[in-house]
Amino acid sequence: MSVFFDGHNDSLTRHYPPRHLRQGENLDVNSFINGLHPHAHLDLPRAQKTNFAGGFFAIFIDPEPNLQESNPNSAYLAPRDRTFSGDYPSLEIPIDSQLALKATLEVLSYAFKVERSSQGQIRIVRSFEDLLEALNNKQLAQILHLEGCEAIDADLHNLETFYQAGVRSLGLCWSRPNIFGTGVPFANNITPNLGPGLTSLGKALVRECNNLHIVVDLAHLNYRGFFDVAKISSVPLVVSHAGAFSVCPSTRNLKDEQLEAIVQSQGIVGVTFNIPDITGNDEAKDPLQGVVEHIKYIGENFGYDYVGLGSDFDGCTIPPQMDGVEGLELLREAMEQNGLTQEEIDLVCYQNWLRVLERIF
Ligand SMILES: [Zn+2]
Repeated sequence: MSVFFDGHNDSLTRHYPPRHLRQGENLDVNSFINGLHPHAHLDLPRAQKTNFAGGFFAIFIDPEPNLQESNPNSAYLAPRDRTFSGDYPSLEIPIDSQLALKATLEVLSYAFKVERSSQGQIRIVRSFEDLLEALNNKQLAQILHLEGCEAIDADLHNLETFYQAGVRSLGLCWSRPNIFGTGVPFANNITPNLGPGLTSLGKALVRECNNLHIVVDLAHLNYRGFFDVAKISSVPLVVSHAGAFSVCPSTRNLKDEQLEAIVQSQGIVGVTFNIPDITGNDEAKDPLQGVVEHIKYIGENFGYDYVGLGSDFDGCTIPPQMDGVEGLELLREAMEQNGLTQEEIDLVCYQNWLRVLERIF
């Protein structure tokens, strides 16, 4: 048995999506606590059974399903319209900032209600001391994370509000453009070096996150944006869920020079379980073994101090034999069978995340 700490999941919105995405589903606000969702990867009872100690819980907002074709109300000028041509893979459409703000507040409110109803079994952590206490008390530690910053305004006023509410991590962009930068489009077998870097607002946001000790997550950000952050940031670089481009050439994965920059900053990459980023189109490959191969590639070439888990539970297609959070035990066994030492496995399963969080918080 091992303890697990995880870089990314979408379980909050899987169990209780914001109103505009619910599509008439009959939902129970206690679904996460009581394990009521039949298809979820993660809930409280299963987390407790698996020694899943905690992780980053994302607030990810999609546009309304009927708006996903075009979004004329968007305040954003899509960079693809002015920068790219030819067979550039298309970006996801931008999301309206007012919708993102409203839905983000809804999901935050849900997270706080769930924490209260859990009667101490869940703890939203706001500092490293909080995190250690939660781990010692066997409370599920939740770090609230914004996956994409559309809910943050150009003056960054909302950032302060979110910080005071408990948000301690944010991804500048999901795989779409916003006022801070450009996310990378989903594609295989082409370079991830697509699109422009951060805007000046994006750079200001990184500096303010450094000041507030908020984690800046570079998952989904494009290549130039990544190196803009590397230049500005004074803390370890964090990529919560991605893989190695050398193992699987997905645009969502990291090139060796990006992994090198993470090492230089003493940062971390959480290896995703998302099959398209792990094995690509290679159906002959076992995706669970594929996850181990990304971990090994980073560990052997860059050091086991810089690789962790970034499951993307409830937000991606995981290896089928994992089923959900209980599959972490299978992954741990697979690491053992692949020759990782117990020390290396512990670094990957939780210790590296704790080291990086201590530095940033
Ligand atoms: Zn993601």
